[in-house]
Amino acid sequence: MDWESVFATRASRMKASEIRELLKLLEQPDIISFAGGIPDAKLFPKEAVNAAFAKVLGGEQANAALQYSVSEGYRPLREWIVTRMQAIGIDCTAENVLITSGSQQVLDYAGKLFLSPKDTALVSWPTYLGALGAFNAYEPTYDRLDILANREPTSYVEAAEKAGGGVKFAYCVPEFSNPTGETIPVAAREKILDLAEALDIPVIEDAAYQQLRYDGESVAPILALDIARNGGDIEKTRTLYCGTFSKTLAPGLRVGWVVAAKQVISKMVLIKQASDLHSSTINQMVVAEVAKNTFDEQVATLRQTYGHRRTHMLRAMERHMPKGVSWTKPEGGMFLWVTLPDGMDGADLLAKAIRDHRIAFVPGKAFHADGSGANTLRLSFSCADDQMIDTGIERLGRLLLAELAG
Ligand code: PMP
Repeated sequence: MDWESVFATRASRMKASEIRELLKLLEQPDIISFAGGIPDAKLFPKEAVNAAFAKVLGGEQANAALQYSVSEGYRPLREWIVTRMQAIGIDCTAENVLITSGSQQVLDYAGKLFLSPKDTALVSWPTYLGALGAFNAYEPTYDRLDILANREPTSYVEAAEKAGGGVKFAYCVPEFSNPTGETIPVAAREKILDLAEALDIPVIEDAAYQQLRYDGESVAPILALDIARNGGDIEKTRTLYCGTFSKTLAPGLRVGWVVAAKQVISKMVLIKQASDLHSSTINQMVVAEVAKNTFDEQVATLRQTYGHRRTHMLRAMERHMPKGVSWTKPEGGMFLWVTLPDGMDGADLLAKAIRDHRIAFVPGKAFHADGSGANTLRLSFSCADDQMIDTGIERLGRLLLAELAG
């Protein structure tokens, strides 16, 4: 069977990511890995999840928990989300919330809803790899969402027309972004909205790490700013806010959400119906139960543990990185982003790092839709204890020093 000849054109852009290939190597036990961007399993609220499953399955809810349910999602969970959204300035109702199978599914649905082949998606360089993967299936072109560059809105339109379509949305991770760990300040968030208004496009706000702030002041979500611009009326806004329980409770439950104007939510509900009918009923009920009982406590534990690791890694970087290497100082999340001197290549470095120093990270190029960023890399501190950080960063420093000298 010649499979290539029957695959749709979109399949040509579906390629295994460098991260996936990497994960295979990381099974070797002596490697100190800063590569995976996943939560630390030791911190999962296992007892609370266990108790919630027992409660849901042991009571009157059991039949409903195992039954098909509505595409919009489990109402008590949507209502819990509404209270949390309101607390961060997003005035909405349960009608503005759709529960999804992780926030990754929202990215896929956004691609499906907005992108025709050759349309343009505005993304930062670098951006979340999984967003590029989700959007790629809809065969878009990418242009750089670079707010500091102060580009004229017409230049985005011209570039999109040249590529054969229109500008359809701007996507960003405003808090502690994957991969850079950086936060977009409020003034730049307003500029993103200005640009989106000028182009009359939606903004997709990926808030995957929003609860994981370790220090500094919280910044208003783009959707909150958008609501404020529109007299408090979410129905007039253009922002889709994507949330998730993956980084706070557990990603294996696959429960996320999107908040937006009803007109967008009702389309996304139709997409969800056609895609997987609804997210796992029992998992939504369990998440509602766990969230109600232990969410704040759980987030406080995560902030303390991850915050310590972040600080420890930053100190180790100060001690061991040679001159010419720079890195971000994130106020939250799971990542540090390292920029090496021009001409160095993160992928070459990774091969040597694994072979000679038994350490791993993610080369930065894959996060760049334009193929740039060869001299960058991502380090994750979420699963690393003090000793791993001390040893691993010292080894990375030695490797970089040798490269720079050679
Ligand atoms: N957005 C970002 C920025 C992420 O880093 C991730 C997970 N790595 C996701 C979305 C998807 O997470 P989930 O589907 O588990 O909610």
